[in-house]
Amino acid sequence: MRVNLDGIHTNLRFSAAHMVIGHESCGKIHGHSYIVDVEVDGQRSGKFGFVIDFKILKDITRKICKSLDHRVLIPLDSPDLKVTYEDDNTIEFTVLDCLEYKLPKQDVVLLPIPSTTAESLSVYITDKIIGEIGDMDTLNYVEVQVNEGIGQGASNRQYLNE
Ligand SMILES: [Zn+2]
Repeated sequence: MRVNLDGIHTNLRFSAAHMVIGHESCGKIHGHSYIVDVEVDGQRSGKFGFVIDFKILKDITRKICKSLDHRVLIPLDSPDLKVTYEDDNTIEFTVLDCLEYKLPKQDVVLLPIPSTTAESLSVYITDKIIGEIGDMDTLNYVEVQVNEGIGQGASNRQYLNE
């Protein structure tokens, strides 16, 4: 059985700035209102016969959205991004060996991902959700769709207990 969270109606959203390094138009810093949909497939279990408690799944996902909200998303694992200076307050980096950025740390999230496309963000958020779910013996998969606004998104399904 499957349970779903529709990000529009359950308020699983964040607004953030990013760039798609090397892309002709999306290579410039720009923003999206992201919406996150979550699907969990598994066996019903426990006192209430839930696949997973909606409240727990919403709280976990909302916390992840909040950690990304109103920030510039920086893909630290990009081969085209080099951090040139960093202290507690500031980060400086170059992109494609030519574009120089200096941003306050409070305005960024440093992510261990190769890019900040919807595809990579869906993998990141799936992994974070799985990391937060406690007992997963009865679950088959977690799937996360990250939508850049309404109508376009990328989804990632991670199987568990295989
Ligand atoms: Zn974009």
